[in-house]
Amino acid sequence: MESDAMSSSSAAVAVSSVTEEELTLTVKWSGKEYTVRVCGDDTVGELKRRICEATNVLPKRQKLLYPKVGSKLADDTLLLSEIPLKASLKMTMIGTVEDEIIVDPMDSPEIIDDFEIGQVEEVDIKDNEVNKQKLRRRIGQYKIELLNPCREGKKLLVLDIDYTLFDHRSTAENPLELMRPYLHEFLSAVYAEYDIMIWSATSMKWVELKMGQLGVLNNPNYKITALLDHMAMVTVRSDARGIFDCKPLGLIWAHFPEFYSAKNSIMFDDLRRNFVMNPQNGLVIKPFRKAHANRDSDQELVKLTQYLLAIAELDDLSALDHKKWESFNEDNFKRRRHG
Ligand SMILES: [Mg+2]
Repeated sequence: MESDAMSSSSAAVAVSSVTEEELTLTVKWSGKEYTVRVCGDDTVGELKRRICEATNVLPKRQKLLYPKVGSKLADDTLLLSEIPLKASLKMTMIGTVEDEIIVDPMDSPEIIDDFEIGQVEEVDIKDNEVNKQKLRRRIGQYKIELLNPCREGKKLLVLDIDYTLFDHRSTAENPLELMRPYLHEFLSAVYAEYDIMIWSATSMKWVELKMGQLGVLNNPNYKITALLDHMAMVTVRSDARGIFDCKPLGLIWAHFPEFYSAKNSIMFDDLRRNFVMNPQNGLVIKPFRKAHANRDSDQELVKLTQYLLAIAELDDLSALDHKKWESFNEDNFKRRRHG
């Protein structure tokens, strides 16, 4: 560790000396005290996730009060090392548990503006020691509950929900109207070759509710292996992009090393930044928006079924360039016709 720090840039040395240390904070909420463990290189957003684990109050519902820090705790991207926190002082949280999930699509997080991260930058983020350490910590903290057992010899498909499987911003009498066309056909077909996990940047309540409403959790033709939520995400830092959350597949690989790896995993998401810790395993899906207008024309899941089944024969999916999935489909079609 020491030699690593010495060889890194001066900025990294300055960060690592303060941040690797864990800090135990006492949070008062609703007449009780809770203990959360954080590090200096965690953000305020991550602190709120830890508090959510202890209290079930969603991060977006929390207001944190602490002496002499002004409004710093309102900025989710701020690093805790930039706030003078002391283990001896107690933090107060104000917030309410959502007993009833509010089925208001406007309530779920909205990130439309994706950004393209250059390849060099991706490697920097993926190989960054602080980010790798955050992933290791998350692996230790997050439990993946299996709804169905992992299957020997199957590959892994990880799916985002919002704009990938479901248009969460449109309104409808029935959520089924907002489901991406061919969802059940897609899941039934790819289940032959892939274990399926669903990973959303929202809360587990929302994931379960949404997937239940769409009939994904009890379909007789396929089974979902596991559901993951925002608590499984890791906040990473990039010099150019600042701080943002991503979905590291390494978390799943570490939990099930005998089944899944970089070689047999693929993830669909409408936001490229979510793949930043494993860029070779991500496929950016065209977002499914304006469900009412696009419901009759959207064919993405049909085309992606072909792609997934075609590549399922390969030993190493990470050798593919998933940006070119559409031309892979066309080439594959031609090969089959002429071969
Ligand atoms: Mg999405």
